[in-house]
Parts: sequence; structure tokens; C-alpha cells
Amino acid sequence: MNSLLQRDHQKIKSVLSKTQQLAGEYFDQQHTLAPGRFVENIPMTTLPEKGIGAEATLDLFQKKYAPLITNSAGPRYFGFVTGGSTPASVAGDWLVSTYDQNNCGSNDSIAPQLERQTLHFLREIFGLDENHFGSFVTGATQSNLVGLSLARQWAGEQLGVNISDDGTQGLAQVKIVSATPHSSIFKALSILGVGRKSLTKLPSLPDRESIDLQALENFLIANANYPVIVVANAGTVNTVDFDDLAAIATLKSKYNFWLHVDAAFGGFAALSENFKHLMNGINDADSVCVDAHKWLNVPYDAAMQFTRHKELQLKVFQNSAAYLTDPAQSPDYFHYTPENSRRWRSLPAWFSLMAYGKEGHREIVERNCACAALLGERIKASYSYKLLAPVRMNIVCFTINQNNISGDAIRALLNAVRDDGRAFFTPTVYQGIPAIRAAFSNWMTQKEDVEIAWTALTEIADKMNFHFVTN
Ligand SMILES: *Cc1c(COP(=O)(O)O)cnc(C)c1O
Repeated sequence: MNSLLQRDHQKIKSVLSKTQQLAGEYFDQQHTLAPGRFVENIPMTTLPEKGIGAEATLDLFQKKYAPLITNSAGPRYFGFVTGGSTPASVAGDWLVSTYDQNNCGSNDSIAPQLERQTLHFLREIFGLDENHFGSFVTGATQSNLVGLSLARQWAGEQLGVNISDDGTQGLAQVKIVSATPHSSIFKALSILGVGRKSLTKLPSLPDRESIDLQALENFLIANANYPVIVVANAGTVNTVDFDDLAAIATLKSKYNFWLHVDAAFGGFAALSENFKHLMNGINDADSVCVDAHKWLNVPYDAAMQFTRHKELQLKVFQNSAAYLTDPAQSPDYFHYTPENSRRWRSLPAWFSLMAYGKEGHREIVERNCACAALLGERIKASYSYKLLAPVRMNIVCFTINQNNISGDAIRALLNAVRDDGRAFFTPTVYQGIPAIRAAFSNWMTQKEDVEIAWTALTEIADKMNFHFVTN
């Protein structure tokens, strides 16, 4: 054995405790480190012939690169929809790498068993019954991809084609509709050979991102002779609007369509009494996407996919080789997931759910929503910013209170806020207006963080030469 490898093996506890110290320091600093930063491209160096061992590598990393880490797991990173990692989830995640299980096998490891248990907990949260099979994938993009691959298989069967065996012939006849789809839906349609342009955007309700049900029903009537895939949204990224899932589910008794629900972060609304009604109807979906690395606050990368059509999932993902087991045996994830080999991705989620329970995760969701509401109040009362939509849940969509504000002006402001180091936001466009999104989905965020961020936003806007509209 290589001598450095041998030495590290002997000193493994010391290597791990030094790593633990660095990780613990990061947790201590999360309240003070700048949430966002701009990192220059680094010059490439050549791979050394001789290594330096784990501890010297840790030192090198700590000195050279750890100071450049973006504190996106901290409490004042409001970009995209970004969760952090709860203490228990980090503990679980460390063990994932340590035990290094290949969580696709069947009864030869506890890993797939605990994955089933974790999915069972999550089904309970979301209101999905036992008919929903599920698995862990890397993110909501992958979850949407898996869900839509099942929809594609179903659509093929409606047309008498087995797409998993015979390919995508006849797909031109498949109709896909949605009102406010996430960009990952288009990516999935590209990967699946269905094509980005095959999606028809239906109108949403006035001043909403929620689908106009009459427009949907008209579409279903007009396309009764085609297989239709409806992509419903449970939490849009700009204004956290929900399609009326219960009403769409009711349409299923009259029309033949596949219902895919993208509940990437909105699914966790089901934890709160205030919002759980928005998830009514979810159980009738054919496929469901929910992220774990957003509002469940587990480390990247983790999401769940659920479907009522396990048999279709087997058709799409079945992996036949002489040495593999019978797919009838449960839970043989390699016959159901895009990967053949994958990490024990469910364990951090199991740790966090066990550690904090429904109550703990509900508190995160409700505190995040209260923080979003507070920022909404500050904006309403200010002269420098204005809200573009009501604060429905955990995202605030707003802009600078100036006529004809440009995307460049928004980006300049947000770069200045990032470089100031008190908060981090990402830009968007809402109903044609360049805008700012503040997404609250981190377990650490408190109302004080909102005040710090709001002070930074107003101070910086006041210093820049905007022409605020006087009301
Ligand atoms: C974030 C998000 C996605 C994509 O999720 P990733 O985890 O980044 O792959 C899809 N849909 C919605 C609604 C989202 O918020």
C-alpha cells in the first residue's frame, strides 16, 4: 500500500477530528460570513506525482480555499430557493460517505430499507398514500425528469408505442401543458426527446401564476384525441402560487391525462395548517416532484420523486443483467432509478426528520414564512422598493420603486448588496418587470436577519442614483 495512504489509514481518527473542527468552525461563523461572493477563475496547477497526505491537504484547503466558500448555507442567503443543512442532516451526511453503501441493491443492506422508511415519512407529510412509489434522486430537476419520463411512457402506451423499447416515434402527438412551469421542465423535455417547444403555456388567472382552469378544461376538450400531460405547479418560484390541484384532480374523472405536480419546495407547505389545503388533490397526481435540499434543509444533493405507476417506472428504468436481482423483489432501486449506483442519499433526510420531527420542520417552514411576511411589510412601507405580488408564503417578489427599471439596474444593485456582505438576493423578471426575489428557506433565518438584510437593501439603494417614484 502507498505509504501516505497507509499512514492516513492509521491516523483516520485524527484526520476526521481535524475535519470536524473545520466544519464546526464553519457552523460558528454562519451568522457573520458574507452570504454571497464573486469568485475569480483560479489558475490551474498540475497534479503532483507525490501526494501530501490527508492532514496537509486539509490544511492546504483550509488556508487557500475555505475562506472563499460562499456562505449559501447561512441565514441571509436569499437567492434562488436555497436551504441550509440542519445539524442532524450533516451528521447523517457524514455517515453516508463513511459507510459508502451503494443504495441500489435490495435486501443486502439497511440502506434501501431506510430509504423506504424515509419516503414513508415524507409521503405522510405530503398527503400521499401507499400507492405512491418513491425514490431519492439528486434534485427537483432530476425528479421532474423521472416523472416526465413516466408520463412519456404512458403517452406512448396511449398511442400503442412502447417508448422504452421502440424509442420516441409518434411523440409529436403528445401534448404538454402548464401555466408557469419551472425552467427544469423544459430541460427535462429536451433530455427526453419530447422537445422544449412541445409545451403549450396556458393562461394563468389575472394577476396570478396559477393556471386558469377553464383554459385547461378547454384544452383538454380540444385535445381529447391526444395523450395530454399536465404539469401542475405547487409553488412557483416568483410568487409561490399554486395551481388548484384539487380542481385539476377532479378533471381527471372527465378527461384522460397524466398529472405531474412540481412541488419542489411548495410540497412542504403541507406541514403548516395555514397552507396545507394548497396540497389538497396531490394524492391523485400520477407523478410528484419534491426537493429535499431546499425546504427540508438537508445537504445537496437530494430530492424525491413519487408516482402511482410503479409498473411504468420499471419499464423505463429496468436494468437487466444476469447478476442483478429480480425486480419483483422490493426495493430494487436499480430497476427504478436513473442511476445504477448511487449514494445513500436518503440518510441525511432520515436524520433530520427523526431529530426534529414534524414539529421541528413545521417551525422552520412557518418561521420562514413569517420572515417573508416581515420583509413584505417593510417593502410596503418604504419609498425605495415596491412589492410586485402579495407575499403568499416564503418568497418576496419586489423591485426598485422607479419607473421603467432595467434589468441592468437590478443586477447592479444586487451586486452591490452581495459585495456589501450582509445579504444575498437573485434577480428575476415578473410579468415583464425586472425584479428581485428573496426566498426564505433556511433553518437558521430569524427576524433579525430580515432587519439586517432590509437595512442593507435600503442603505445601498439610497446611495445609488435611482429616481424613486413618489406616491
Ligand atoms: C428549484 C426548483 C426546481 C429545480 O430543482 P433543483 O433541485 O435545482 O434541480 C424545479 N421546480 C421548482 C418549482 C423549483 O423551485
